[in-house]
Amino acid sequence: HSGFVAIIGRPNVGKSTFMNRILGEKIAIMSPKAQTTRNKINGIYTTPDAQIVFVDTPGIHKPKNELDDYMDKAALSTLNQVDAILFMVAADEQKGAGDAYIMRQLAEVKKPVYLILNKIDLVKPDDLLPLIESYQHDYDFAQVFPISATMGNNVDDLLTSLTAAL
Ligand code: GDP
Ligand code: MG
Repeated sequence: HSGFVAIIGRPNVGKSTFMNRILGEKIAIMSPKAQTTRNKINGIYTTPDAQIVFVDTPGIHKPKNELDDYMDKAALSTLNQVDAILFMVAADEQKGAGDAYIMRQLAEVKKPVYLILNKIDLVKPDDLLPLIESYQHDYDFAQVFPISATMGNNVDDLLTSLTAAL
């Protein structure tokens, strides 16, 4: 089980915290595929039966500006080259304009997208379902994982499912 996974989401939703939790060590090597996508490699998750390379996707986090066309094309090209995409949002915040922007970009992507609701330690379980439904209203996610990157809740479930899909 191996592949490339892009992790996207607005600033402060917990992408770095999640990466730090799951990655043993930061790496500097580049694979041929990573070089062709011109992405920053955040790290590699390695177990005896899995190797997942996490990549950053420049352009996808940014709201519209005059570089639009170039950035959009580069970001979309990247997202179509990875094997799966993790779209991370914060469970303690409402869906915002930045999330809507990213989901509009994802509409043109043909790869499986997982919705990751991070920071579930900050919300009441009853408040999760309406939030999940509001995201699912905008996009047909392959799977949905409520997690806490700091506490570790469901992170193993997510990695198990992701690994099995690769
Ligand atoms: P990024 O901008 O998406 O990379 O977000 P960071 O990983 O830098 O996290 C932003 C802030 O959210 C930091 O203060 C983290 O400690 C906090 N944070 C991240 N994950 C969680 C979580 O699962 N629960 C809580 N309570 N805070 C979190
Ligand atoms: Mg970060």
